[in-house]
Amino acid sequence: MRPFLAMVTAVLVAATVAVAPTASAADSTVGGPGAGDPYFPRHGNGGYDVRHYRINAAYDAPRARLKGTTRIRAVAFKRLTRFNLDLLLDASSVRVDGRKARLTQRGRELVVTPARAIRKGARFVVTVRYAGRPASVREKGVTPFLTTKSGAVAVGQPQVAPWWFASNDHPSDKATFDIRLRAPRGQQALSVGRLASHRAVAGGNQWRWVMRKPMATYLAFAAWGRFRIDRGKVNGVRYLYAYDKAMSPALRRRAIRSLRATPQVTAFLSRHLGPYPYADLGGVVTSAPLEFALETQARPVYDSTFFRRASSLDARRNTSVVAHEIAHQWFGNSVSLRRWRDIWLNEGLATYMEWMWDESRGLDDVETVFDSWYSVKGAWFWRLPIGKPGRNHIFDYEVYVRGAMTAHALRGEIGDAAFFSLLRRWVSERKDGHGTTAQFVALAEKVSGQQLDTLFDAWLYSGKRPAL
Ligand SMILES: [Zn+2]
Repeated sequence: MRPFLAMVTAVLVAATVAVAPTASAADSTVGGPGAGDPYFPRHGNGGYDVRHYRINAAYDAPRARLKGTTRIRAVAFKRLTRFNLDLLLDASSVRVDGRKARLTQRGRELVVTPARAIRKGARFVVTVRYAGRPASVREKGVTPFLTTKSGAVAVGQPQVAPWWFASNDHPSDKATFDIRLRAPRGQQALSVGRLASHRAVAGGNQWRWVMRKPMATYLAFAAWGRFRIDRGKVNGVRYLYAYDKAMSPALRRRAIRSLRATPQVTAFLSRHLGPYPYADLGGVVTSAPLEFALETQARPVYDSTFFRRASSLDARRNTSVVAHEIAHQWFGNSVSLRRWRDIWLNEGLATYMEWMWDESRGLDDVETVFDSWYSVKGAWFWRLPIGKPGRNHIFDYEVYVRGAMTAHALRGEIGDAAFFSLLRRWVSERKDGHGTTAQFVALAEKVSGQQLDTLFDAWLYSGKRPAL
């Protein structure tokens, strides 16, 4: 994610509740309402691992109503007499392995009691039918489901899934996706990955999107509305860009020019990080007032305001956000967080690659950017321990800037060869998986042969301006 203002998204992530352990969570055959992330105790669930989602969703813009079915293939970690899913819309029925199951809903927790207990290690299929008005469903006053002039867009971090599909909503549980979105005739329905088909169905068109690589739930988006679509192939990789038709022609031209840099950005990043992790490239520019861009898998979503700069010097900065979101395809998407506390691994490394892209375009070089931030002496800038920022601060500016500075300090300490070898090994050894800060530090020490605790402690946890 790349916000305009860190403050804006801090409001979004404040939408959490502290949870007291319940008696039922201790029951060994009950799945439990969380994935064990102390920052977001209700995000995700316990007792099973999702392998695949098949989502069918139709959005009726005039009534602002979404109707959907999510079919989940999962594996039980233990015997389950009851388990939870995350969903904020109203579920009308749940089936487990074809049998009707009992359901109750409270907040984002959908509690499912199957007719028969699920055996430990068993594969099982859950089908949930639901409907609701997602733009009106708010947690602490916030919804990541925004209506636009012609439709709506569901995009957000750390959570968006409960507003449009039933899931195990935490990045520790990644899965493949098959997403079928219905749109009225004359409109488009967009999502992540490969456009597998679009065909006429009763009352409109169905757009089917397939993501064959494991993906965290927050990296799936849905957008309905009127878009201009550009698609084709470059260097053997398919691309699909979409531009909201509500944008002014001048803004749209600049957005098109910026997104068309995506293959060039990807080639630049691949030279430093190794192969791009996905089979598709793309981007969606929305007119919805997101005030951020998000690295949704293989197809980031951008607020159109990122492309407002018109002068030729400034216009080079219109691709900075593209570099940031494409860098996340390695850092965050292919290698995902297990706990939101480690967010600097996503945002710091994506911001650092953004700085490197800017440097390659003749803008400020990385050293100058680092020096100008390092010259900030005010305690306010150094106070946040970015390695454990607290749940209300995961998208604060310091996590981005000082995360990137941490990468640059590390590069200075271990040298270019070890630094880029570390990044390449990190993304290749953990491809389609997860990584923690401790694992990153361990690999940095292994690759460099240096003891780096002092450096990482100073940059991530001290809350003070590190000595150079
Ligand atoms: Zn980001």
